Amino acid sequence: MTDEPPLFERAALIGLGLIGSSLAWAMKRDGVAREIVGYARSPETRATALRLGFLDAACETAAEAARGADLVVLCVPVGAMAAVAAEIGPGVSPGAIVTDVGSVKAHVIAAVTPHLPEGAAFVPAHPLAGTEHSGPESGFAELFDGRWCILTPPHAAPRRAVERVRALWERCGAQVDEMTPERHDLVLAVTSHAPHLIAYTMVGVADDMRRVTSSEVIKYSAAGFRDFTRIAASDPTMWRDVFLTNKDATLEILGRFTEELFALQRAIRTGDGQHLHDYFTRTRAIRRGILQAGQDTAAPDFGRPHPSAEKP
Ligand code: NAP
Repeated sequence: MTDEPPLFERAALIGLGLIGSSLAWAMKRDGVAREIVGYARSPETRATALRLGFLDAACETAAEAARGADLVVLCVPVGAMAAVAAEIGPGVSPGAIVTDVGSVKAHVIAAVTPHLPEGAAFVPAHPLAGTEHSGPESGFAELFDGRWCILTPPHAAPRRAVERVRALWERCGAQVDEMTPERHDLVLAVTSHAPHLIAYTMVGVADDMRRVTSSEVIKYSAAGFRDFTRIAASDPTMWRDVFLTNKDATLEILGRFTEELFALQRAIRTGDGQHLHDYFTRTRAIRRGILQAGQDTAAPDFGRPHPSAEKP
């Protein structure tokens, strides 16, 4: 915990799953808010949050949580943002900052903005951090450490509010960048949304195969496929909403993907080894760039422990 004073008096987290609970833990770690209250749909989630201790109080409604808060963070699936904003809108204090953590930005801005009162600043954000787990038990304070958080503030957002949301994420361990919502949605379609869809597809294909080859697909599930299964275990509601609300950018990237796939398919069919080698050389360089940017580990097999490698 730093010696810096809290940035906010009362922070309200609406949605207490992986991201909401991790944000609460990270805010607690650094004393970012004097009081953290929260709301989740189910009484079970609210009870879990209190038992684990990442909230000071759990409220019965989203409106009650947001009332009197100087920071409101929407941590629900993208498809639920409009309904939640409509519920909290009338009670949001003028001067409050409202932000979100949704994986899609243009849609969330259009869904939330009309419900907020004049005088409240909306500063959308997306932390690029997550795991394949969900729910209040899956959160941890270090989730955002060293990861990026992208802000997509509308032109009308007061600069002071944007700087406070930047400070919130920096104190939770993240590095902060700003871009337009449209740019964000296209970049994320390439780096996250399309790869998730491809992983879902690959695991689906393997599952169909399994019916043909009994247990071989699972038995020999080595590195490549195993990593696909981890990604494809991500929350179905969250990812359904991502594809339905980032439709244009995802379809644009999938169109390009299909063209490249056809080119690789043709190279395999015609025995064009040069094309394959050149292509794989280019993609290997991209991996090196990710490592140089400190966005992944260079350890073999993503740093998974291998008992035989640990022997003296
Ligand atoms: P999660 O673990 O499934 O938690 C979702 C939370 O939202 C739960 O507390 C849930 O309440 C509540 N909720 C779900 N549907 C709702 C509805 N219709 N109305 C009101 N509350 C509802 O999800 P998450 O992974 O934290 O994701 C939350 C947001 O973060 C999403 O917008 C997602 O796009 C974004 N995000 C996710 C990741 C990631 O990797 N997971 C990374 C970055 C950003 P109950 O517990 O009562 O069901």
